[in-house]
Amino acid sequence: MVHFVGAGPGAPDLITIRGKQYLEEADVIIYAGSLVNPKLLEYSKDVCTIHNSAKMTLEEVISVIERAEAAGKTTVRLHTGDPCLYGAIREQMDILDEKGISYDYCPGVSSFCGAAGALNLEYTLPDISQSVIITRMEGRTPVPAKESIQSFAAHQATMVVFLSTGMLEELSRRLIEGGYTEDTPAAIVYKATWDDEKTFVCTVGTLARTAKENNITKTALMIIGDVVAGAHYDRSRLYDPGFTTEFRKASK
Ligand code: SAH
Repeated sequence: MVHFVGAGPGAPDLITIRGKQYLEEADVIIYAGSLVNPKLLEYSKDVCTIHNSAKMTLEEVISVIERAEAAGKTTVRLHTGDPCLYGAIREQMDILDEKGISYDYCPGVSSFCGAAGALNLEYTLPDISQSVIITRMEGRTPVPAKESIQSFAAHQATMVVFLSTGMLEELSRRLIEGGYTEDTPAAIVYKATWDDEKTFVCTVGTLARTAKENNITKTALMIIGDVVAGAHYDRSRLYDPGFTTEFRKASK
């Protein structure tokens, strides 16, 4: 059995209870060493074999899993945040399907939620934005042309940009080309929920300078939109005394 597990954004107590239990029971752990907090490995039992996938190919990961399966062992494949975002899990699952190896998926707290926690943000403020666009700049991994930053910027929705810390000048340029103003609020969250977490509130126009001045080159998320700073928003309807819901009658 293979468990794909979301490790959470960094803090070792932000893994789920289920994920922690899988780590405690695992015979083999393959963890994404570039981003998973190694403190999580302390949950494993003494006899567990641990592999760092940052140094492995897909084929090597699969061969470790196959060997474990042949010996009747349980493997945890530990991915940062939630595996569904930029986790490269589909390609592993497809091979496991071909080989008849069973697996399941234990979600985790994504870093974009960790980043909201770091800044006490609500990404979906009434009247400001009711959508969150999760995207990235293209790097060595291509992004489909119809998903350009400019086209997303045109929505003026809250935007969370992954995997792009080294490309902030270009990110700003595209955001502005797409319709954001230079002074639209933005934030950079470095290592959300880790002990050395850092947060910087800036603007679309000052993203690159802010990162440079603070030596932020990786492991960061960029958050764009008026939800980041002081925008006027409407109260929620859900908690409005004059609003009847399935669970509560309006009081006036
Ligand atoms: N599956 C992960 C994302 C993996 S892609 C998740 O759900 O969070 C790797 C990128 O995620 C990094 O380049 C960075 O942009 C972001 N990231 C991961 N952990 C982070 C953290 N603790 N703080 C800020 N950004 C983080």
